Amino acid sequence: MLTARATQPTTAPTFDRLAARMGTVGTALDVRRMLPHRTRRQIGPWTFLDHFGPADVAATEFDVAAHPHCGLSTVTWVVSGQILHKDSLGSEQVIRPGQLNWMTAGHGISHSEEVPVGASGDIHGVQLWLALPDADRNGPPSFEHFAELPKLDLSGGEMTVFAGSAMGLTSPARVHSPLVGFELARGEAGRSELGLSEGFEHGVIVIEGEASVDGKALSVGELAYLGMGRSSLDVETRGAAKIMVVGGKPLNEAILLWWNFVARTDAEIRQAHADWQAGHERFGVVDAYTRGRLDAPALP
Ligand code: MN
Repeated sequence: MLTARATQPTTAPTFDRLAARMGTVGTALDVRRMLPHRTRRQIGPWTFLDHFGPADVAATEFDVAAHPHCGLSTVTWVVSGQILHKDSLGSEQVIRPGQLNWMTAGHGISHSEEVPVGASGDIHGVQLWLALPDADRNGPPSFEHFAELPKLDLSGGEMTVFAGSAMGLTSPARVHSPLVGFELARGEAGRSELGLSEGFEHGVIVIEGEASVDGKALSVGELAYLGMGRSSLDVETRGAAKIMVVGGKPLNEAILLWWNFVARTDAEIRQAHADWQAGHERFGVVDAYTRGRLDAPALP
């Protein structure tokens, strides 16, 4: 029996250092899973955060065959390299650094992710999932690509908002609950003061380089959970560095996350599992992907 779980937001500022769980995709692509964490299931509506790479694409065999999703939006952010997305709506989209792929699964969608033919160099990025609120989670699927995102010059740094709003900038991606996601890229050592929303809980990771957040050193492979009640965040880097901040209003819904499905009840997960395994039209077919589909693992 699968049971929905939630962790309560910390309503005051805090600094909880959480270590990633390590995994791999393909043969050589390291993945640091930051969310869900044993002690922190979600941050606002963000329920999943994988930081992958960097790794030479020639060695990675990065090729994730067609697989289903429901109840969530996937948010893909590339720091270097390219990823080709194909889905059951007929979308075929290459994403490059600084761009955004935003797929809302709603009741059901399937997609594949691969390195495009001819791509070389490193692959490095972040994939996040947002739990859709109960009112929207059974809606229609959609996919959007954004080639340009709003950017703000900070002294020695640049902030790019890919989700929600921060510091007067708003991402063009449509969201279903109040949230934020942005990257700060600093090209040199120094400090940036970032504006946050007091009503959101936030978390931060280091994507590359060395950074101190709130006066505390934070490494690649760690997530700092920051709690609620912060109107600003002090970030200092030792040299060139990139960090990502995610946050949002607590969803106050107990989420059930199993494999690629986000739901609320055991019965919903079993239905999604059965629908995918049976090839039900609910999840569609990724016509443009020719190397098969992933089998769902056995249910507990
Ligand atoms: Mn996926």
